[in-house]
Amino acid sequence: MHAAKDTKAKTKAPAKTHEVQPGDNLWKLAREHGCTVADLREANGMTPEDALVIGRDIDVGACIAKGKAARAKLGAAVGSGGDQRRYKVASGDTLSRIARKHHTSVEELRALNDLEGSLIRVGQVLVVPGREPRTIRLLTGQSRGRPTHGWLHDPSRLPHSSHYLRRRPERTYASAHLVDHTLNAIDRARDQHPGLHRLAIGDLSDEDGGPLSGHHSHQSGRDIDIGFYYRQRPANYPKEFARATKDNLDADATWALVEALVRTSGKDGGVEKIFLDYEVQGWLYAAARKDGWSKKRLREVFQYPDGRYAKHGMIRHEPKHDDHLHVRFRCVDADESCK
Ligand SMILES: [Zn+2]
Repeated sequence: MHAAKDTKAKTKAPAKTHEVQPGDNLWKLAREHGCTVADLREANGMTPEDALVIGRDIDVGACIAKGKAARAKLGAAVGSGGDQRRYKVASGDTLSRIARKHHTSVEELRALNDLEGSLIRVGQVLVVPGREPRTIRLLTGQSRGRPTHGWLHDPSRLPHSSHYLRRRPERTYASAHLVDHTLNAIDRARDQHPGLHRLAIGDLSDEDGGPLSGHHSHQSGRDIDIGFYYRQRPANYPKEFARATKDNLDADATWALVEALVRTSGKDGGVEKIFLDYEVQGWLYAAARKDGWSKKRLREVFQYPDGRYAKHGMIRHEPKHDDHLHVRFRCVDADESCK
């Protein structure tokens, strides 16, 4: 009837309809077609008060398109046997809190776990999108002595990956637990921020450890230099580190990486310290606050906002660390040769 309206309609998702059958409900239809209940309602101009009318055609085309996009975004986690992790429900958890924590939606969690409502119980194991973390190898005898005066025996190596670039492959040797904790942290950042660009990896240690040119530490396989994530990947990155600015740093994604590293600190061989420019700490601090971390908890993570000489926080200011994180891992508890 109206030409303008017709043209507009053609650019929308292809119309595909479903005739409502007895026993249908919005959850079921959303799950069958891969989108969320909210998507279905939106495509059909329904409010939460509207009931499904048997015999009515509802548009599922937009739902199918949205479902495809969501699956691509989640790394095909939904419905294809793709990457999935398990999460054990803790006291105080709600579905929406778990969804937020894993950067997914309540609808996706319901679909992944075949839940109808919002009732979950403490101790229940839920499937959440993302890669299952690898088991941390806790080998003894690899890291000998101290980071500033030590060496490496029978080293492990950070493998080649499409998720990062090893700038100097001859300096990618380390203790096994550093490699495993680091890979898990990078996976976690990528789970939370699908589509991240490659990360620059600087030096770890060389094959037998010991003094490494350009560094004071990095001698015993417990240090690694890791670049940042950027809103727009700088021209020479990841071949070169790039200085962070308030405008170019992707503070949310970089915080996701730092957060995953910080969370290893309670585990055997986890992160001991991170050296990072004070100003960059401030930008990540803001991202962490936005992410729901309290000021009290962040006091254990950052020196910010108490100045670059503050004596708290596992992240400490170091000059010339405005283009990478220098991450130091602890010794494996049972390893007596590691200092
Ligand atoms: Zn370093």
